[in-house]
Amino acid sequence: MDELVETLRFRLHIESGERWRLKQARFDARPIANHTWAMRELGYSKTEIAKQVMPTENDFVKNNAQAVVWKACDAYDAYESALKKWRNSDNRDELPKPQPPSTDSWGAFPLVMNHGEGYELQVRDDNRVGYRISAQPYKEKVRGFLRGAKQDLDRVKHALDSASDLEVGRAEVVYREGVYYLHVPIRHPITIDAAEDAESVIAIDINERNITTTVLDRESRETLAQLAIDYGQVKQKRQRYYDIKRRCQEHGKHSEVHRIGNHVVNFTEWTLHRLSKVIEHYVQWFPNPVVVFESLDGIRNDIDYGSYMNRRLHKLPFQEFERQVTYKVHRHGAPVEHVDSEYNSQRCSMCGEKGSRNGGRFTCKNDTCALKQDHSDRNASVNAAVRWIAKTETGDDSHSSADNYRPRKTPPQVRVRRVGSGRHTTTSCGGVDVNRPTSSHEIASQGVLHS
Ligand SMILES: [Zn+2]
Repeated sequence: MDELVETLRFRLHIESGERWRLKQARFDARPIANHTWAMRELGYSKTEIAKQVMPTENDFVKNNAQAVVWKACDAYDAYESALKKWRNSDNRDELPKPQPPSTDSWGAFPLVMNHGEGYELQVRDDNRVGYRISAQPYKEKVRGFLRGAKQDLDRVKHALDSASDLEVGRAEVVYREGVYYLHVPIRHPITIDAAEDAESVIAIDINERNITTTVLDRESRETLAQLAIDYGQVKQKRQRYYDIKRRCQEHGKHSEVHRIGNHVVNFTEWTLHRLSKVIEHYVQWFPNPVVVFESLDGIRNDIDYGSYMNRRLHKLPFQEFERQVTYKVHRHGAPVEHVDSEYNSQRCSMCGEKGSRNGGRFTCKNDTCALKQDHSDRNASVNAAVRWIAKTETGDDSHSSADNYRPRKTPPQVRVRRVGSGRHTTTSCGGVDVNRPTSSHEIASQGVLHS
């Protein structure tokens, strides 16, 4: 039995109690985090640290000190595992060395609270989800109710019902631009199907221009669906933001930087949400699916390495995309697997010969091969799917094995949809994009091939 943790975000509507208590608590959490990191570096265990960190009655984090220690330990462990990956990496010259959490920073630290201790949620008589946050014992509590999407509130209500198998976890108070938010994790048990029983293989190729998916029938290796979704706008917007940010910082215009930053974050989140939704539809449409990602440098499996990788890759949130897809497909019981990414984009998906790429076109150099030309990302995603099948069936997923290519031609019929674009564009593949919001269901169905 696996466990799925879904973090829901709510605004705190404060009805009683003083806001400054929340602020003070966030600042009091910082020295505890610093202390934790310093001790962790010396090799102390979580429990040893928790015993050492004894806030006084007047500390605003008295009730939450242990939760803060836990969060800080998680952050430190993430750094250590990133460091280990970095040390073992073949191309570490190109990768920035992970840095430990700084122990001399004095800003606010997220206020982390265990349910039933530092905070409590409850369904009230008026059917709202009420909360109380008591950072300091015997002192005034901050009370009110949560505001958020109806389905999220329903989810919390369901979790608070003692008969449900959902559980409310360690929450965090987050402050952003004058508003307090509560991030509430909901844990629930799930069963993920065994990957080796998969009947359809959904491979995803991610690059700086688009996300391309290929769905193959495992048995026949026939193509069931293909879709390329262009999200170049995200990269452009991010690039533009970093340019503007640099200029604004030089001129001390910090509020401007903040405003644009929030816009970019929202836009990116929205795009990732739409893209991962498309994959979520796929897992429901094809029998016993497995979702296959390419692992990059063998470090992509480690979710904590993401922030370093993303910085390197122009801060495109590939890792966040993977995380969202994984979460969404696990909800439907679908497993997620990784294959080696080496040569997936250079080799022909039909004959395995090394080809050439020119922009979005892949050209096979083998005269006897029927492929000739293909959409280069489609070619890569077919390779990823076929390699996963080879890996599970023969244990050999190397690019040199002839079994690991597909002797059948599938029409290079890829629809390209542009997500988040404001322009009408016709792509080289004949797909036409849109400037009105399209449902992710509709986008997903565009890529399904009908014979
Ligand atoms: Zn070929």
